[in-house]
Amino acid sequence: MDALTPRLTNNGNIGQVDATIVPRYGGAPTFARLPRWDEVDQADVVVLGVPFDTGVSYRPGARFGPAHIRESSRLLRPYNPAQDVSPFAAQQVVDGGDIAANPFSIDEALASIQSHAAAVLETGAALLTLGGDHTIALPLLRAMHAKHGPLAVVHFDAHLDTWDTYFGADYTHGTPFRRASEEGLLAADSCLHIGIRGPLYTADDLTSDGDLGFEIVHSVEMDALGTAGVIDLMRARVGDRPVYVSIDIDVLDPAFAPGTGTPEAGGLTSRELLAIIRGFAGVTIVGADIVEVAPAYDHAQITGIAAAHVAYELLSVMAGARSTP
Ligand code: MN
Ligand code: MN
Repeated sequence: MDALTPRLTNNGNIGQVDATIVPRYGGAPTFARLPRWDEVDQADVVVLGVPFDTGVSYRPGARFGPAHIRESSRLLRPYNPAQDVSPFAAQQVVDGGDIAANPFSIDEALASIQSHAAAVLETGAALLTLGGDHTIALPLLRAMHAKHGPLAVVHFDAHLDTWDTYFGADYTHGTPFRRASEEGLLAADSCLHIGIRGPLYTADDLTSDGDLGFEIVHSVEMDALGTAGVIDLMRARVGDRPVYVSIDIDVLDPAFAPGTGTPEAGGLTSRELLAIIRGFAGVTIVGADIVEVAPAYDHAQITGIAAAHVAYELLSVMAGARSTP
């Protein structure tokens, strides 16, 4: 350990750089100022960046998402009062760096994302991925399925991402969950979209989505259901299956996440999203991704901070599930 980076340690886990010694705006921009993977002996959760956005259909730029989320995570502190847990003390969380994904070949990128994710899972660690565009969910789900079997996917997004093809392409950021369903990666009747809104091509988009194993909580239902109602629905839907959480930051209203590629008005507040994520308490989350953060359209780290806090709540849920078996 470098003497210039004094760290908090707890329960034998190596935590964040001590902010009482090194101010938060200094030092290496790992996620939440956590150690790199090669600085610890073992990891319970690996945070991995996937700087890839060759699958986008509108604004590009999510390839810069991982670095932006890391830079926006410097204010995350050791104790999370909302969940009464210290996510970096109850488990060893590390920054595993970035996957090198080929920007000129989607096929090659998907293969390297899948094999890199599989290598992480092979160590027994859970995986939290920072995107990147939503195309990356497919190779991540392939790796997760190989390890855990069919997954209950809770997908937060303005968009269904179950379209068939776009410009003839099978693998885009609008198609990962249709491909995942076709490949048998999803647990039947256990998947859920939350936050869906905006104009569609036809009404058939919604009915054909149901055939793929998903139920939908539309954004317009939020007020009537409330976060507690959404949490009840979500917990009933996933049951006791292994859960994979995929969060497209555009599930948030553009007021809370302007820095994204396909923004839609009328989305969730960050308070609502964080509350719903806390509703996973006690559920086994085997993996998660946060995608579609495109910093070129962000201002004052609004989107980056939202994404960093979403990651923090997910890590806190994982820590809570670990400490209360
Ligand atoms: Mn979206
Ligand atoms: Mn998406």
